[in-house]
Amino acid sequence: MTSFPPHLVREDLRDFTGYSSARTSHRGAPARVWLNANEAASASAVDAPGALRRYPDPQPAPLVGALAGLYGVPTEQVVVGRGSDEAIELLVRALCRPGADGIVVAPPTFGMYAVSARLHGVPVHQVPQIDHGTRFAVDAAEVARTTENTSSRLVFLASPGNPTGATVPATETARLAGALADTAVVVLDEAYQEFADGPSALALLPDHPNLVVLRTLSKAHALAGARVGVAIGHPDLVGVLRRVQAPYPVPEPVARLALAALEPGVLAGTRSRVAATLAGRDRLRDVLAGTDLVRTAYEGQGNFVLVRSDDPDELLARLARTGIIVRDMRHLPGLADAVRITVGTAAELAELATALHPETPRNR
Ligand SMILES: *Cc1c(COP(=O)(O)O)cnc(C)c1O
Repeated sequence: MTSFPPHLVREDLRDFTGYSSARTSHRGAPARVWLNANEAASASAVDAPGALRRYPDPQPAPLVGALAGLYGVPTEQVVVGRGSDEAIELLVRALCRPGADGIVVAPPTFGMYAVSARLHGVPVHQVPQIDHGTRFAVDAAEVARTTENTSSRLVFLASPGNPTGATVPATETARLAGALADTAVVVLDEAYQEFADGPSALALLPDHPNLVVLRTLSKAHALAGARVGVAIGHPDLVGVLRRVQAPYPVPEPVARLALAALEPGVLAGTRSRVAATLAGRDRLRDVLAGTDLVRTAYEGQGNFVLVRSDDPDELLARLARTGIIVRDMRHLPGLADAVRITVGTAAELAELATALHPETPRNR
């Protein structure tokens, strides 16, 4: 594997070793008696087996191994944290000097990139996606130009994107990462990849040391509440991300649960859930096609559909009257009339259909 350009890491952090926790600093002779972390001597009443008495492994090896297996990459390319949200934060922290190095995003897009940058004092440069009427597209050539012109260190693209559902073709990701090889790290956030019909950017990693892929258990795996996500990238960069991370980012019960979620039987359930979601997305598009309250339903590849309405107030009010809440997107640039609707269960979709078509019988 080609090497990771060390100059992409913040200069003041290049030899930063991070917090040396009791768990990570023990080396040498086999240990029997652990008196190095100021842990309690006996278990809590709420933790009969005593599994929680000790601080957890910062990167629980069985979980990292299972995630690496799931995504088909070596374990040294994986850093696990509290959702992709933490991975985004780690990347900004490790690569961008506050008040100096910027990030580039392609709006309309996921808000956490700009939030992390802003909280870190990092400028955000925007390259709007191109609206082709029923689908959005990232302007990869303009993203490359803007990154170079602003000397940005980090590019965040989501594929499929939220809220547009647009994907970035692998050829464009490869070209962008190649163009910015010595300039910036290109992050492909694949939170919704399980719902997409194109390939993951993971296959591009061996040729592009400056590429990072984010994956999460929050969407297809139905574990948003557990907070488990990963950044996958060059081992040198992953090492840096681990060093700038909080000391014990993965709570022991979460590590145990996430590991169980990656067992074959559970993964089979995840695949059926994805299949049901894709069928639901088709059904949702049919429902939306039949109402005057929706002018455009975008061809997205996530577990949601972005729509434009001539009367978004009425669309939102009609749904809210029956207790159905969807996401108002009108605060985002270019989406002044848009709403995002998540694919729910068949029963929830039927309720949505009834709310949108009150005059038609349910079993048309
Ligand atoms: C939902 C979502 C995530 C998931 O974030 P987690 O912190 O892993 O729950 C990441 N990126 C995008 C674009 C999303 O929409």
